[in-house]
Amino acid sequence: MSTNQALFERARRVIPGGVNSPVRAFRSVGGTPPFIARAQGPYFWDAEGVRYIDYIGSWGPMIVGHVHPEVLEAVQRVLVNGFSFGAPTEAEIEIAEEIAKLMPTMQQVRFVSSGTEATMSALRLARGFTNRSRIVKFEGCYHGHADSLLVKAGSGLLTFGNPTSAGVPADIAKHTTVLEYNNAAALEEAFGAFGDEIAAVIVEPVAGNMNLVRGNPEFLKTLRALCTKHGAVLIFDEVMCGFRVALGGAQALYGIEPDLTCLGKVIGGGMPAAAFGGRRDIMAHLAPEGGVYQAGTLSGNPIAVAAGLKTLELIQAPGFYERLSAQTARLTNGLAACARDARVPFSADAIGGMFGLYFNETVPASFADVSRSDIPRFNTFFHKMLDAGVYFAPSAYEAGFVSSAHDDAVIDATLAAARDAFAALAA
Ligand code: PMP
Repeated sequence: MSTNQALFERARRVIPGGVNSPVRAFRSVGGTPPFIARAQGPYFWDAEGVRYIDYIGSWGPMIVGHVHPEVLEAVQRVLVNGFSFGAPTEAEIEIAEEIAKLMPTMQQVRFVSSGTEATMSALRLARGFTNRSRIVKFEGCYHGHADSLLVKAGSGLLTFGNPTSAGVPADIAKHTTVLEYNNAAALEEAFGAFGDEIAAVIVEPVAGNMNLVRGNPEFLKTLRALCTKHGAVLIFDEVMCGFRVALGGAQALYGIEPDLTCLGKVIGGGMPAAAFGGRRDIMAHLAPEGGVYQAGTLSGNPIAVAAGLKTLELIQAPGFYERLSAQTARLTNGLAACARDARVPFSADAIGGMFGLYFNETVPASFADVSRSDIPRFNTFFHKMLDAGVYFAPSAYEAGFVSSAHDDAVIDATLAAARDAFAALAA
């Protein structure tokens, strides 16, 4: 038995499924997940000493690569001053000011420790602000695992949402309406039917949890207009796409101003940090100023804030996003060329440092489109690449991530492996 297999068996005895977050278990692709021992730049190494090119980047945070020397130095500098105080610090002001500067719709920011907390708290705030209960989300968008957000569509527009997880009461799911992503007509219909009951609409403006699916600009514009017209709070969940698709996030890319924004991943530089924020008049409803309660023992943790601040500084280097986008496009264009040569039906898309690979002739626009991909072929491709030392997301429903440490040599090595993988798929 290999070391990874032994670790997986040992893990499964004390940790459900052997993992602390389900997708890590390789359930959809099969096989044993490598147990990671260390990382550096674009690589990580498993417990057997095998090196992988990492296209997950901890699912988004590692935009400057693993253990960037300047981030490491920033963390080491604050570490000796204490790990957590439960009292305010100046660095929390600095990171809030930095976020407000880069994303001007974030007039005020509240720090939390995970994306789940950010979206859950933003929803409560929107409900407290509007005195309404109903929320709207979109099929295929993931916003963390709060009860109201683990909901799928009912059988019709006016029916109640259904829980997608055991343990979510139907009484909670019924307040969530789920619509098709990028479908402006369904949006108009929903707002026409119950627009004045909607507290908030939450959306990933660039979706990264059903593989990568771009929000359609007209769809997002319609959504903004309808929320304004009906007094519903528009929440952009930029936990994944914020500081990933562009310096100002998806909202800068599309030129659309949400009322509230949720952030995570990049703003913690790999440490547990996330945030929500937005319009000052809405944020004023948050405790201790207002009646909407929200709190956190480790919120604004000094080590997480130091890693986040340094990461936010590094991504503001001139040309950072131009280079990151160019490298990501080099990868996706190269993969598409390999697939074409092997005559394997395939397409790919990239925005900033985020990408999608689809075993599908055309780039998908909805969850239904993604579901029509050739999943068995993806699984084979995934394992061929893993065997060649390239670690893509272990699911056809996840996006991938490139960091500024993925240089030409790393991309070329990936494409060399992909040429063989696609050739094997064609055979
Ligand atoms: N929103 C989005 C868009 C996400 O991608 C994620 C995590 N992948 C979350 C929320 C939840 O964040 P966390 O895992 O930190 O709770």
